[in-house]
Amino acid sequence: MSGMLTINEIFHSIQGESTYAGAPCVFVRLTACDLRCTWCDTPYAFTEGRKRTVAEVVEAVAAFGCALVEITGGEPLLQDDVYPLMTELRTRGLTVLVETGGHISVDRVPDGVVKIIDVKCPASGESARNHWPNLDLLGPADEVKFVVADRADYEFARGVLERHRLAARCAAVLFSPVYGVLAPPDLAAWILADKLPVRLQLQVHKYIWGLMPGASDPPRKAVVLLSGGLDSCTAAAMAKAEGFELYALTVAYGQRHAAELDAARRVAGALAVARHIELRIDLSAFGGSSLTGSGAVPRDRAIGEAGVPSTYVPARNTVFLSLALAWAEALGATDIVIGVNAVDYSGYPDCRPAFIEAFERTAALATKAGVEGARFRVHAPLIGMTKGEIIRRGLALGLDYGLTSSCYDPGPGGAPCGHCDSCALRAKGFADAGVPDPLEGDTSRSPRP
Ligand code: SF4
Repeated sequence: MSGMLTINEIFHSIQGESTYAGAPCVFVRLTACDLRCTWCDTPYAFTEGRKRTVAEVVEAVAAFGCALVEITGGEPLLQDDVYPLMTELRTRGLTVLVETGGHISVDRVPDGVVKIIDVKCPASGESARNHWPNLDLLGPADEVKFVVADRADYEFARGVLERHRLAARCAAVLFSPVYGVLAPPDLAAWILADKLPVRLQLQVHKYIWGLMPGASDPPRKAVVLLSGGLDSCTAAAMAKAEGFELYALTVAYGQRHAAELDAARRVAGALAVARHIELRIDLSAFGGSSLTGSGAVPRDRAIGEAGVPSTYVPARNTVFLSLALAWAEALGATDIVIGVNAVDYSGYPDCRPAFIEAFERTAALATKAGVEGARFRVHAPLIGMTKGEIIRRGLALGLDYGLTSSCYDPGPGGAPCGHCDSCALRAKGFADAGVPDPLEGDTSRSPRP
């Protein structure tokens, strides 16, 4: 048994989706995905992972002693060695499910493996990638899933269902509402009105683990680092959509303006966080960054220009995450949310996946809760997304980007300068997303001299 896979995580839980919902299941999540669905709830799987041999993965799965295993992602079919993995798991007598985004042919999936094929609806932003011949490869045990964000998605899904006679050709057709975007009762009413032969699918695992309102009392708490910028606000909105109760931490670190602190207050209010703390930790005492007053903020740099720019604040995210960890431990929380991004970003070393992973290990070693067995999780949901994808996701969640502030060097009324790296990245993001920036033409803010 040879072969190598990049694995994001292997864990034992309750299956939350498909007709197997409710059954104990081992999940093997493979790293990487070449889609960017607007509502994706596993962006941490885009880049985070480590190499493991197929034999190691099989042994890790077997160690749970569970008869059901799901191979998921990311997009699991991107890695060639997923096929021998599936074969080996079947050889061991396990029931094997593979969930795929539906844009890669499933023709190499071994016989006996249950295929769960996602068909991407328009609001995902990826419906052009659907590989329609996959629907001709469905077997009687396979399932088709549509994640539905709105009525247009529903109509799209209904059309595919009817054109391809899916209900007669596979074990189940699943319609799943996007959490926080489409209310389940609305989708239920549409299905009933049209008498569709589909199943309304709610994500059972989120109810079990307290990620949805009403699921448990109290809800899970997450400390979110809220700077007031576009990224941190989107990450916070995503965490809220996941059902977390938010504890927002804003650090006044001696930045040269108060605009983003004002923005953090606005966004904390809009997201109805449970508590918002502003900590004053004046890193300008150390200097070393143009953001804290050591020199001018660079203007009109090319996006992607090599080198770490002068706006890097020495060890800022290490300091911020340490503060968030301290508050999380005091709250009895194990989830921390940070809006770092390693795609459309300024090249800061403390925005990379390796740093986030290393900090999680540090948290386990550095805290009383950690040594007593708590597993701290640093959620960096934007880390593999482009700015355009981030903005589309935030808009889908109803985030008002007019409340945010991204500029490193705004005018007195908070008006963006339009020349710093952050303004350039923000402008690129809105252009890529194909929507106007609400801060453009905001006459309530004084123009920068
Ligand atoms: S939801 Fe979309 S973007 Fe996220 S892992 Fe699945 S296919 Fe990839």
